[in-house]
Amino acid sequence: MRTRRNVISVLFSTLLALPLAPAASAQKEAPAKVKVVATFSILGDFVRQVGGDRIDLTVLVGRNGDTHVYSPSPADARSLAEAKVIFVNGLRFEGWIDRLVEASGTSATVVEAAAKVKPLEMDDDHGHHDDDHNHHAHGGLDPHAWQDVANAKLYVAAIRDGLTAVDPAGREVYATNAEAYLAKLDALEAEVKAAVAAIPPARRKVITSHDAFGYFARAYGLTFVAPQGVSTDAEASARDVGRIIRQIKRDKIPAVFLENVTDPRLVERIARETGATIGGRLYSDALSDENGPAGTYIAMMEHNIKALSAALAR
Ligand code: ZN
Repeated sequence: MRTRRNVISVLFSTLLALPLAPAASAQKEAPAKVKVVATFSILGDFVRQVGGDRIDLTVLVGRNGDTHVYSPSPADARSLAEAKVIFVNGLRFEGWIDRLVEASGTSATVVEAAAKVKPLEMDDDHGHHDDDHNHHAHGGLDPHAWQDVANAKLYVAAIRDGLTAVDPAGREVYATNAEAYLAKLDALEAEVKAAVAAIPPARRKVITSHDAFGYFARAYGLTFVAPQGVSTDAEASARDVGRIIRQIKRDKIPAVFLENVTDPRLVERIARETGATIGGRLYSDALSDENGPAGTYIAMMEHNIKALSAALAR
C-alpha cells in the first residue's frame, strides 16, 4: 500500500509540475494523425505514398518478410485495435488476417487493395497439383497482383478512397498525393514494357523459386516457371524439381533467379544441375531494406527488370 501511495504522489507531483494550459496549446498543433495498418511492405509503400504526413502507418510484415507464412504477434493485434483503417492485399495472400482482425476486436474499416483487380487463376502446370500434394491454400487465385503496374494503380486508387472515407478532411491531400504517384507509375509501366521489348522473344523465359510473377508474365509477356506454387508454405516436391530441370534443358531456359523471400538453395541446386545462369535476386513479395536495391515499389520493379534484362537480353 505504501508503495502504491508513493507512486500516486509521484504521479500527482508530476502532473502539478506540468505547464498549466497544455491542452489549449496542443489544440493549435496539427490534428492527430490517422492510425493506419498495412499488412506487408509493398502495400505499406503504396499507403505511405498516398497518406504522406497525415497518417501514422504500421506495417505488419516487414521488409524481406514472407507474408504467406507470417505469424502475427500480440503487438499486431494492438495495432489493428488502434487503427481507423486496415489495408490488406486480399486474394487470400494474408491467410492469417481474418483471425487477427477478429482477435483484435478492431472496429477499423478493412480495405482490400486488390478488390478491383482481375484475378489470375493459379496455373495448373505450376505448383502443387501432384496427387500426393494437393492442397489449395490460396483457393486457386494468384495473390501477387502488384507485379503488374496496372494493378498497382488500382491499389493506389483503393488506398486513396479508403483513406478519404475514414478521414474526409484529408480528401485534397490524398487526391494530390495519389495523382502524383500514379503519374510515376505510368512512367514505370512504360519503362518495364520497353525493357521487355528489348529482350529477344525466344529468351523471355525465367525460373524463380515460387510462382510470384504470374501477373508480371501476363502483363509483359515473359514466361516464369517455378518449382514451388503461388505460396511459399510448402516445399517443392522432388517430382516438381525434376520436371523443372527437364524443362530448363528442353526449352533452353537461360536464367534462374533467387528471391528475397525464399530459401536460395533450391534454385542454386537447379542452376548447378542444368548449367543455367543465376541471374541474381528478384523481389517478389517484399521490399528490401530501405537502403537496398528494392527499398520502394518503384525501385523494386526497376531492379527486377534490370536483373531480367541483364540475364536475358544477350
Ligand atoms: Zn508469394
